[in-house]
Amino acid sequence: MRISDMLRHKKTFSFEVFAPKPDKPMEPLLLTLSELYGFSPDFISCTYGAGGTNRGRTLEVCAAVKTAGQEAMSHFTCVDAARADVLDYIGQCVDCGIENVLALRGDFPAGREGTRGDFDHADELLSFLGAAFPQLCISVAGYPEKHIAAESAETDIAYLRAKQDRGAAFVLTQLCYDVDAYRRYAERIRKAGVTLPVVVGVMPVLHKDPTFRMAVSNGCSIPAELAALFGKYGDIPADFKKAGKEYTARLMERFIRAGIDGLHIYTMNKHEDVGDIIQNFGIRNAIT
Ligand code: FAD
Repeated sequence: MRISDMLRHKKTFSFEVFAPKPDKPMEPLLLTLSELYGFSPDFISCTYGAGGTNRGRTLEVCAAVKTAGQEAMSHFTCVDAARADVLDYIGQCVDCGIENVLALRGDFPAGREGTRGDFDHADELLSFLGAAFPQLCISVAGYPEKHIAAESAETDIAYLRAKQDRGAAFVLTQLCYDVDAYRRYAERIRKAGVTLPVVVGVMPVLHKDPTFRMAVSNGCSIPAELAALFGKYGDIPADFKKAGKEYTARLMERFIRAGIDGLHIYTMNKHEDVGDIIQNFGIRNAIT
């Protein structure tokens, strides 16, 4: 089913996973997926590795999700992607019954500028995909605190508007720990004429260093409440994780109250920790 059709009737609840490297077994992820299905997600997305070197695995994961009777969304990036690669990979997705694709530019490998593919930006990929596969639901990325390399929030939002004009079906956001920043973003994009549903991505706070690195590398602010966790529990991993889960649940509740169209959890394949957050704080029922 197309996610855009779900979003017409309800708020969605979903997960992101990443595929194992080609030399690693699939079984741990298959176990993770089967645990995640227990939370009745509306869809599960799988990331796409830089340059598409591991894309066979992304397809395998999405196909496994479909085979389990669940909805899948494959990410796809422009880095090193020629038109023929797009037709080949997305054609295989379609053959597996996958109806949802997240069209992204991708991050450039270290020391490199440009995609070195046939598309410089996600909007070009989106147009190409829309023309080649009109049956697909194609979503795009949005950045509540602006993309780290964007000239300004205004230009970033103008490009988002351009993606809407080129046929994007919904926006899936970058991690954001500041719900007020998200509210301001939601107001600004609506003023700019972006009417698409916005599904908010939440990165659970489980470990000090990765949380800090992810926020900083994406230009996301660290609100005082989160900074306090670093100060108070930063040297005690078990306590940090416990407080981080409570913080993540509060964050999700605040996003839901802010009027989002869907909640997408970046699971980092950690189904036990994610399961604790959902179960202990009643998150699944809060989003229906
Ligand atoms: P674009 O929309 O192309 O934007 C990139 C920059 O260029 C922005 O600064 C924007 O303001 C500007 N811009 C946009 N359009 C134009 C234009 N037409 N002309 C000039 N400038 C323009 N990366 C992966 O490698 N694999 C993944 O699976 C993956 N999943 C992600 C999932 C989500 C929900 C998000 C938010 C990001 C994900 N990323 C992933 C990271 C993403 O690839 C990077 O953030 C990347 O730097 C930008 O991708 P984009 O699609 O937003 O690019």
